[in-house]
Amino acid sequence: MNIFSAIIAFENIHEVRRLCHWGPIIALTVIAVCSSMAILDSIIWYWPLDTTGGSVNFIMLINWTVLILYNYFNAMFVGPGYIPLGWKPENQQDTMYLQFCRVCQGYKAPRSHHCRKCNRCVMKMDHHCPWINNCCGHFNHAYFTSFLLLAPLGCIHAAFIFVMTMYTQLYDRISFGWSSVRIDMSAARRVHNPIMPFSLAAFAATLFALGLALGTTIAVGMLFFIQMKVIVRNKTSIEAWIEEKAKDRIQYYQTGEEFIFPYDLGSCWENVKQVFTWSGSPEGDGIEWPVNEKCHQHTLTIEQLKQKADKRERSVQYRVVEDYNGACCPLRKGLNTFIRSPCTEEPRIKLFKGETILATRGTKWWMYGDKVLDEEQTKAGVRVRGWFPRRCVEKCHYDSANNSTVSEEKKDK
Ligand SMILES: [Zn+2]
Ligand SMILES: [Zn+2]
Repeated sequence: MNIFSAIIAFENIHEVRRLCHWGPIIALTVIAVCSSMAILDSIIWYWPLDTTGGSVNFIMLINWTVLILYNYFNAMFVGPGYIPLGWKPENQQDTMYLQFCRVCQGYKAPRSHHCRKCNRCVMKMDHHCPWINNCCGHFNHAYFTSFLLLAPLGCIHAAFIFVMTMYTQLYDRISFGWSSVRIDMSAARRVHNPIMPFSLAAFAATLFALGLALGTTIAVGMLFFIQMKVIVRNKTSIEAWIEEKAKDRIQYYQTGEEFIFPYDLGSCWENVKQVFTWSGSPEGDGIEWPVNEKCHQHTLTIEQLKQKADKRERSVQYRVVEDYNGACCPLRKGLNTFIRSPCTEEPRIKLFKGETILATRGTKWWMYGDKVLDEEQTKAGVRVRGWFPRRCVEKCHYDSANNSTVSEEKKDK
């Protein structure tokens, strides 16, 4: 990593506006509080100019702060990389394998997704992170993950300093009785002459910073393990979800296809090398990707198109034309409905004439779907979903579909 050439990538200097958001404000405040308190406490506990240990402690502390801020600002300002507006694949024929983004007026390159917060299609999008007020994606993946590793390490060092400072400062000021603890903050320091007095306020501030540091260590440390899993498998959180849906789809249709996730290069080391490089920027241009030998550039995008078509296909609006009482084997709905009742524990739903159902699957005699509820119920999170006899409903025509289908379509773009 060439630290000096890229403290901040200047071509992205307009990105400074990303700082004006609660995420970066809180994150930078936590970094500022923890590192300044750690520096102040180090001066009190382990004066850096007298001993080698003191110097090493102090230099390490400054190092953490610099490295954390370096990776944090790069994650934010270098950004994930966006697909150019109006992007088209070089080969015109490839457009049939890609989704079109109506906002960016271009095709979505493999592994890219449209982020509503960034309002752009993001290269190898993993998620939109509020703490850097930007997406985590192709170009900032290494910076982002390094930050997630360095922040807990720095916090552990700081926490150690806070504990040692409080311990040494309180050691000769605290006295335990049978039923009381007495702290005399005015007592003289035991070790050397104080450079700075360690007052009650300093004690409170140190305790507060210790809480912040421990909290950050746990929360950010967990995020680090999640991101390492993403890198080692070369599979973003979004792609893991697509893969799961692919398995569901194949199982549902019993097509006998085998879905192989194309970007896992087979070894953890190969996958890690795609993200972490000596130059600091990841392998590839964020549009074309190395793939598993059994796959091709569009394996995943074709699967996404299938899933999208499947979702559209599998949810069709039906209008209820006959009441149904919710019985498992209804007597008055014909012999076939009675005999062919689906053998599952899934619920049956009552139907009333005039209601609308969004059906996702079905057999010849039965259907499964969601009742379309009024706005109030939808807001309250009510969901009525289950089986009902096919003969009680009638397919709605497209133009008679109500607003909810239209808004679903909009969300999908
Ligand atoms: Zn887009
Ligand atoms: Zn975003």
